[in-house]
Amino acid sequence: MFKCNNFNNILNCYHENKLSHAFLLETNDIDKCYEDVLLLLKNINCPSEYKENCAEDCNLCHLIDTGNLPSLITIDPLGNNIKKEQILEMMDRFSSKPVYSKFNSYIIRRCDYFNQYSANTLLKFLEEPTDDILGFFITNNKMNVISTIRSRCQEWSIYYKEELGNNYSEESVSIFNEYLENVCGREDAFLYNQLNMKNKFADRIEWTQFFTEIIYYLTDIYNNKIDLGNNYIKNFSKDHIVRVLDMIEDILKYLKSNGNIELILDKFVIEMRNIYE
Ligand SMILES: [Zn+2]
Repeated sequence: MFKCNNFNNILNCYHENKLSHAFLLETNDIDKCYEDVLLLLKNINCPSEYKENCAEDCNLCHLIDTGNLPSLITIDPLGNNIKKEQILEMMDRFSSKPVYSKFNSYIIRRCDYFNQYSANTLLKFLEEPTDDILGFFITNNKMNVISTIRSRCQEWSIYYKEELGNNYSEESVSIFNEYLENVCGREDAFLYNQLNMKNKFADRIEWTQFFTEIIYYLTDIYNNKIDLGNNYIKNFSKDHIVRVLDMIEDILKYLKSNGNIELILDKFVIEMRNIYE
């Protein structure tokens, strides 16, 4: 299973005989993306039908897993650059047809580290593609990739969701976002408090736990650690999030000093509206 679903789409292109010869993969996680590229190459090159744990009795998948397949080259920047020599060495190795696999493949991690020399060297390779060579260029930011390379690659966005930490639950996140949406979006938010929110949690301890989880959640958002998807909080700037965090810290203090839940929820509405407007 690919960790990012777009690799299924790329694999489908292969099955439909529409595979590009060079891919620019923009990702938020280079390591996961690299693993997915390797999985893709196993799917494509495996002489039998690729299956999980294929490497146990399939030599080719085993060679890919152990980094020993001669027709697969991974290139990382040396120091601050991808060097011309690294590209020349690869081109030399790929001047002959692959023996064990269907393709000669190269994966360039951090392809924003090309310099003019190495990019020009590679260009000849990209401009006269042969059917048996596949190239993968991985970067965190395609805007930093030299345009001569970018323009010759098929671009894919490879996004990985951060797994939710143990500090907050999906349920809390969903309640919080729904609450935000109602607080900021409806006129009768105070009534909404009375009808829908007041009895969400049994007691002060559960409310405290809820708001504490939300602090972890907002902190992760502030640090760009999660994909916001369609959650309402995506409408908030970082500045807003800092203010919401401050406000929730206050609410937690208030909860600790036995403040009334209804008043706390109304306070939340008033303050949220101030922040949102
Ligand atoms: Zn295999």
